[in-house]
Amino acid sequence: MRRASCPTARTAALTVISVLTLAGTATAQTAAPAQPIDSAYTAKIRELTPTDPKWRFTTELVDYLPASSTVPTPLKALGYVPGTIGKLSHVADINRYFRAVAAAAPGRSRLVSLGMSDEDREELVLAVADEETIRRLDEYRAMAARLADPRGISPAERARLVREAKPIYWVLGSIHSPETGSPEMLMELAYRMVVDDGEFMRSIRSNVITLITPVQEVDGRDRMVDVYNQSKALKVPNRNLIYWGKYTAHDNNRDGMVVSQRITQNYMKGFLHWRPTITHDLHESVPFLYISTGTGPYNDEFDPITIAEWHTLAYNEITELTRRGLAGVWTHGFYDGWAPNYMMSITQFHNSTGRFYETYTSSGADCQTVNLGAAQAERQWYRPNPAVNGVRWCIRSNLNYQQSGVLLGLKYVGDHRTTFVENNIAKAERMIARGKSGPPYAFLIPRNQRHSAEAADLINLFRTHAAEIHEATSDFTVQRGPRVIEDRGPHAPSTSGAAATPSAATSAASRDTAVSDSATRAAAAARPATDSARGAGRAQARAGASTPVNVRAGDWIVRMDQPYTQMIRTMLAVQRYKPDDPSPYDDTGWTLDELRHVESYTIPDSSILARPMRPVTRDATIAGRVDGSGATILVKHLGDWRSAVFPWKAGARVTIADSAFAVNGTTYPAGTFIVADAPKAREAIRDLALVGNAVAAAPTVRSHAIALPRIAYIHTWQETQNEGWVRYSLDRMGIPYTYMADQKLRTPGVLDRYDVVIFPHSGQGGMSLVNGRPMIGPPIPWRASRETPHLGKWDETDDIRPGMGLEGAAQVRRFVERGGMLLVEGSTSRFPIELGLTPGVTEFQSRTLGARGAVFRAEQVTTSSPILYGYESKIFPVYFNQTPLFQVQTGGPGGGGGGGGGGGAATEGVDPAILAAQARARPRVVLRFLDRADSLGISGMLNNPQDLLGRPAVVDAPLGNGHVVMFAIRPFWRYQTQGTWALALNAIANWNNLTDPCEGSRCATPARVTDGGGTSRQ
Ligand SMILES: [Zn+2]
Repeated sequence: MRRASCPTARTAALTVISVLTLAGTATAQTAAPAQPIDSAYTAKIRELTPTDPKWRFTTELVDYLPASSTVPTPLKALGYVPGTIGKLSHVADINRYFRAVAAAAPGRSRLVSLGMSDEDREELVLAVADEETIRRLDEYRAMAARLADPRGISPAERARLVREAKPIYWVLGSIHSPETGSPEMLMELAYRMVVDDGEFMRSIRSNVITLITPVQEVDGRDRMVDVYNQSKALKVPNRNLIYWGKYTAHDNNRDGMVVSQRITQNYMKGFLHWRPTITHDLHESVPFLYISTGTGPYNDEFDPITIAEWHTLAYNEITELTRRGLAGVWTHGFYDGWAPNYMMSITQFHNSTGRFYETYTSSGADCQTVNLGAAQAERQWYRPNPAVNGVRWCIRSNLNYQQSGVLLGLKYVGDHRTTFVENNIAKAERMIARGKSGPPYAFLIPRNQRHSAEAADLINLFRTHAAEIHEATSDFTVQRGPRVIEDRGPHAPSTSGAAATPSAATSAASRDTAVSDSATRAAAAARPATDSARGAGRAQARAGASTPVNVRAGDWIVRMDQPYTQMIRTMLAVQRYKPDDPSPYDDTGWTLDELRHVESYTIPDSSILARPMRPVTRDATIAGRVDGSGATILVKHLGDWRSAVFPWKAGARVTIADSAFAVNGTTYPAGTFIVADAPKAREAIRDLALVGNAVAAAPTVRSHAIALPRIAYIHTWQETQNEGWVRYSLDRMGIPYTYMADQKLRTPGVLDRYDVVIFPHSGQGGMSLVNGRPMIGPPIPWRASRETPHLGKWDETDDIRPGMGLEGAAQVRRFVERGGMLLVEGSTSRFPIELGLTPGVTEFQSRTLGARGAVFRAEQVTTSSPILYGYESKIFPVYFNQTPLFQVQTGGPGGGGGGGGGGGAATEGVDPAILAAQARARPRVVLRFLDRADSLGISGMLNNPQDLLGRPAVVDAPLGNGHVVMFAIRPFWRYQTQGTWALALNAIANWNNLTDPCEGSRCATPARVTDGGGTSRQ
């Protein structure tokens, strides 16, 4: 009976279990006496699990499989046991398996759809519990919903809920497609949980409602399986996945704040449907099992109970797994807990507990001999039992770790069921109480503001997060106060005015001199506020003191005396990431109303809670309008994307005023749109929430016609995540473009048909874009085939390795020289610099700057670049992430600095025409980072700001007849930065009129409408 595969070094008890379970009787382990073991499956599990004289890679919880006469095993359904080397399952097979389990075990499970992906693959949720619980599942859901919002609950009802309700624990697989193990594991877990009649599992089923989502990123999963299979067939190393979902890759886990992507929306809806007590994401990276707690700094909005639960659960699983002989189970030293943008943030910021695992990946479905660097294998205070080198690690090791850990977590939560239910309700109660007992009591978002439709979008985002929104039903006055500062300090500043405006935290002076917190705040309070999204009269509130604000009927109010306010608090707070904090894991600042150029007020005045208001029951909308009558409509550009996109939507030729003008006593600034009155134009104005003024005749002002550009949009075959966010934004706005890979630029004449080339950040420098991937091994196609049915789709190629080559680079140069516009952002800005397309622009390397993913103030430099049309404030917030830092030579020969567009002095005897041509060829700084250390930072990390002060943020570099427009900032960052979209759109719409249209005295001449269309188009 003894099987050769049984490891000799196991404990005697475990050996007995092995023998007995393989014999099919299972009396010694936790299963009920009569339940037979699936011996073929069990033998496979053991064969696939590496053995080692010292370490174990499995536990008694998962080293066997109980047999069932009704529920098919994964082996029966798929033909292989999860964790079989070389086998990864497609979504259709996984989903089919979950359906089969649900159909075969209706008493203990219920399958529901979580929603469809961008590519119409389904995400599933399988609920598992005992028969009584599944029968009453909707009652338990209702209990969870009542617990989530305990307002008005009677003590008796509360006591009943705490007694009866069950924790809902949601386990989610593979949000990150290259992390391949969890969908395989979750198939086996689903089977095990509905079939196993051992006491351990019966206890879980009776005390916990377990939800299993086998795959979150369903589109990326299918591509990953194809890529894995293709790599095997080609005998090339498993490689990075290019497309995961339609738009996002790894950043599908950075959308939890703005909920823009389909799978995030599905998660949000799933969360609100189930109100899970705990969610548990299964990731793979560090060895062997990292259990989330994080290094801190933790976001201020976490209830201390949530943080305690992370640690409680982590240490339970560490103890249990370590005792079972598993190496490398640890916590703390990975990830910080600061940014609110992860998928699990939706859980975290709605009074539940979100957690995750990182197990050691098997890079597909393979085996390896573990060979870790010291940093990963070292013993640390938080890792007394580190991962070990020299052992064999297979996909099944990963599955065993994940599955054992999850089961131990479920058991613990079930064993402490009342505690977790009580914690859940307590967190909601504390949140409500906090909104009644201390500032802020509300946030106020005026309906009537410059970017009112963007404000409405923000309100709707809050509604997506299940926050209640009210609107004032009459005018009244309350006190407004300074913003909340998130620095792990006291939550709410007092109304005394001692709290800081945003950028205080990031002042170099305050850091260098190590002034006390209160001194920093006081200094900040004394500083004038300069922001932008706010009207001048409102700036005073930013200075710290409480001042009155007039609330108008219809203004939106977000009360804080409700359960789901954490996400809103953190979105409208400013973040301070301190210099001595650990290196941040992700963004450090995200103040969303700043990034979106929306006006909001923090209300420290409790009287607002008693003011007249009513609940908003549907999404907020703002409709535009046309005032007056006449043949011509004038539309002011408001410096937002809705204005900037108007030429694409107007259905008629749109011209743009080159300078300010007045009609009927109203002044219109440069950038105002002029369009003939027509139904389509009116429709666009209404839909975009713009305001048009119909006038009798076209004004006498110099203007240029918009020639809507033909856009080539370039991606690389190295990564698509960053361009994915830009593409998503353009798609949302409905801006047409032709999508092509950089290697297409090798094709002669490929850019002849285009006017604008958009080349978004791709995480690579200039020459690596030219070179592409190493030309080693066979061609690697990316297209649909019988073997790879899920590749292709968004683009395809016979070989992903080549970059654009020098031919492509030369074509881009010719494209610009003949009058095209190349728009680059972030890392792709290095491409024109390194290829010499932007003389006078270089990249500066800072050794000291710390500006990781944060919000900064930028100021306008030129007075009349079309890129700045509509931006009324000279200073406004932008998002920037550490690099690139531009150095621009803007003056005459030898001139330096990053400043404005001054020209060199004219030398006698030199042809003025040549001097003028020289001046026209110089790069112009359009926007630069503020040059004041005390005001540069708005939110997030800013250490050693010297190298960022006054540094160019947007540069317009002429080349031949065309332009390279370079963004150091990221105008389309993660669907958060709507406030800067218009900078890019303005550049695109005015691609053939970027040279200062009012250079010299041209704008002073009598106005005429010039025909910009076709003049420089080829
Ligand atoms: Zn991951």
